Amino acid sequence: MIVGAGQAGFQTAIALRGGGYQLPITLVGDEPHLPYQRPPLSKEFLLGKHTIEKSELRPLAFFETHNIALRIGERAIGIDRDTQTIHIESRPSIPYDKLVLATGSRVRKLPIEGALYLRTRDDAIAIKQRLDSAQSIAIIGGGFIGLEIAAAATTLGKRRHRDRSAAETDGSRGRARDLGFLSRLARLARRRPSLRSAACTRRGSHHRRHRRRAQ
Ligand SMILES: Cc1cc2nc3c(=O)[nH]c(=O)nc-3n(C[C@H](O)[C@H](O)[C@H](O)COP(=O)(O)OP(=O)(O)OC[C@H]3O[C@@H](n4cnc5c(N)ncnc54)[C@H](O)[C@@H]3O)c2cc1C
Repeated sequence: MIVGAGQAGFQTAIALRGGGYQLPITLVGDEPHLPYQRPPLSKEFLLGKHTIEKSELRPLAFFETHNIALRIGERAIGIDRDTQTIHIESRPSIPYDKLVLATGSRVRKLPIEGALYLRTRDDAIAIKQRLDSAQSIAIIGGGFIGLEIAAAATTLGKRRHRDRSAAETDGSRGRARDLGFLSRLARLARRRPSLRSAACTRRGSHHRRHRRRAQ
C-alpha cells in the first residue's frame, strides 16, 4: 500500500515491480488525476508547448498491466497500525501488509486574497488561464518555481516591469532587472508582518542587514 500518488509514490510502485515484487500494490492519491510529474507545470505547460496530459507519468493501461491498483481522488485520513488498515475519506478502509507514505509537501498559503499557487496540475491550469490575459504579474517566492513562472511570462511577452524600490529593499536588484519580473514581495512584507514571517524567512537576514546599512 502506497499513500501518495506523486512522483515518489509512483516510482516506488514501478521500482517494486521492476525488482520482481509480485504481490498486489495499491497506490492511493487524493488528486483526481493519473499520477503526473510537476516539473513541466512551470515550464512547457505554461509556455503552451505541452498539453497538461503530457505531464502524466504513465497511461492508465500501464497501471492495469502492472497490476497496480490506482485509487485516485481518495484521501487517506488515518492509519490503524494495530489492524493494519488505512482509513479513506468517505470510502471503506483498506487493509495493508506493508505501508509506504509518500505524501510529499504542499504550498505555504499566504493571507492574500485572490492569489494563485503553483503546486498541482489544477493550479497550473488556473495560472495558465490567467497568464494568457495578464498584462503583468506579481510573483511571491523567488525560488526555482517563481523564477520559472517569470521566465515563462517574459517569454510569452508579458510586460517587463522594473520595481526599483522592491528590488533594492530585498537586495535582489540585479536579479529583478535581469529577469524583468515585478517583485512586490518586499513592499508587501513591509505592510504585512504576517507576510514577512511567512514569505521572507529565507531572505530575512539579508533584508535586515540591508536595511541596517541603509539607515
Ligand atoms: C511547478 C513545479 C515545478 C517543479 N520543477 C522541478 C524541476 O524542474 N526539477 C525537480 O527536481 N523538481 C521539481 N519540482 C519538485 C518536484 O516536483 C517534487 O520534488 C516532487 O513532486 C516530489 O514528489 P513527491 O511524490 O515526494 O511529492 P508530491 O509531488 O507532493 O506528491 C505527493 C502526493 O501525495 C498526495 N497526498 C498527500 N496527502 C495525501 C493523503 N492523505 N491521501 C492521499 N494522497 C495524499 C498529494 O496530493 C500528492 O499528489 C517542481 C515542483 C513544482 C510544484
